[in-house]
Amino acid sequence: MTKQNDVQIGQDKFKEQCGVLGMLSDERIMNVAQFIYTGLMALQHRGQEAAGIAIMRQGRPIARYRDVGLVNDVLSPEKITGLLGNIALGHVRYGTVASSSNVQCAQPWFFQSNEVNFAIVFNGTITNYAPLRKRLEEKGHIFTTDVDTEVISHLIAANFETSADWIEIIKILMHILDGSYAIIIMTEQGDLYGFRDPMGFKPLCYGEFVAGNGDEARIQVMASETCAIDALSGKVLGHVMPGEIIHLEMGKPPHSEAIMRSERHALCMFEFVYFANNTSELDGISVYDVRKKLGKNLAKIDPVESTNAIVVPVPDSGRSAALGYSQASNIPFEEALIKNRYITRTFIMPGQDKRRSLVNLKLFPDKKTIKGKDIILIDDSIVRGTTTEKIVRLLKANGAKSVHLRISCPPIRYPCYMGIDFPTRHELMASCHPVDEICKKLGADSLIYQSMEGLIDSIGLQKEELCMACLDKDYPLKNPPCLDLLEETFTKNR
Ligand code: SF4
Repeated sequence: MTKQNDVQIGQDKFKEQCGVLGMLSDERIMNVAQFIYTGLMALQHRGQEAAGIAIMRQGRPIARYRDVGLVNDVLSPEKITGLLGNIALGHVRYGTVASSSNVQCAQPWFFQSNEVNFAIVFNGTITNYAPLRKRLEEKGHIFTTDVDTEVISHLIAANFETSADWIEIIKILMHILDGSYAIIIMTEQGDLYGFRDPMGFKPLCYGEFVAGNGDEARIQVMASETCAIDALSGKVLGHVMPGEIIHLEMGKPPHSEAIMRSERHALCMFEFVYFANNTSELDGISVYDVRKKLGKNLAKIDPVESTNAIVVPVPDSGRSAALGYSQASNIPFEEALIKNRYITRTFIMPGQDKRRSLVNLKLFPDKKTIKGKDIILIDDSIVRGTTTEKIVRLLKANGAKSVHLRISCPPIRYPCYMGIDFPTRHELMASCHPVDEICKKLGADSLIYQSMEGLIDSIGLQKEELCMACLDKDYPLKNPPCLDLLEETFTKNR
């Protein structure tokens, strides 16, 4: 447990909740677990608190292994050697609703009842979790955790009593559930069903790769991001559309079915700004291209007039936007802050060393590049502002003449209840202070945020196709939340 005075790295960034992965091959390939490991390593940025695998051989029971920790520790080669099977699910988790350090909350989730057995992986947040759970409990369902996945599993089981058709059951789920979800289910028959909520908050794609020793066995795959398929040297075949199901069955090509159409889509804009891997494509849009364009659009707003300026990214989150800014403004790009690669997010600052800022350990300033320069410092966002303030101070302490903050996302003023761990309103700097006050508090010489128009233009989708609720309070849910109530619930559960 973290002591009160300890500082954990990564506190001042938003956290994605999960990454999901599913694979299916024919029976020539029984070591699918090793490919799950590779795919999860590529999805590690989506969750670093727990990882797991569920695996089966057609006609045999589902085996599962999960634990708290990084993929490399939880699913190390020694641990997965004995996990044989040709159909599998994988998951990386960062939890907000339930205790993160509890292995019971790690996924894949496995559900067993008289009616149905299945494994499930989930990314998102079910915003009507509480009333759904209450209704199920009244019907006699017993819960062992507070995770959304358990409610979804019980809903599936409850509906299995009247129908054994998975497509029908997923259709019912889409009508009942509110919130964001990208889910993959592995049935006891060995089929995989992947689906996204009707607004498509969370990404999900599918593809295939070739494995085996020359006998060209094709493995079908579904994943949160295309970078997982790329890591397997595979081919992306498509993106699961909002409200669509992709059914993978042995010996057949992927079968898709549009279940619930919504006029309003809501792909999370923050996946593009920060969460997703730079090399991924979300719904066919390159994350790297979006980030560079965010920088280009930012460069158009209130340019810094100086012949002595350099563009410096906050590593690694500001790098692509800084490159775009530099290209659009013709101001040189310089890596004046170098990240200490050995300080990971699990690093705990020793209590007795707390006088020294964690930023001093995390970032090495290159004095000769910084000295006497007007620094245009690019980052993706400001959450509480604590880290940003320290970076500004670090640059000035190392000789920067001035520091001009440029943020590639518009100000984040409202919490997220669709699967991202956001602070409450009073913890969000932009929620409580006007821009000039934030600039002063951070010790910067100027501060410019991205415009809403610049963000939408950079992604290239219509406003009605994106979720931007943390910017404009327009929550695209069936039942938009009462912020006071939700903040109270989420704070209690943290
Ligand atoms: S509120 Fe913000 S972080 Fe949450 S899903 Fe919407 S855009 Fe993404």
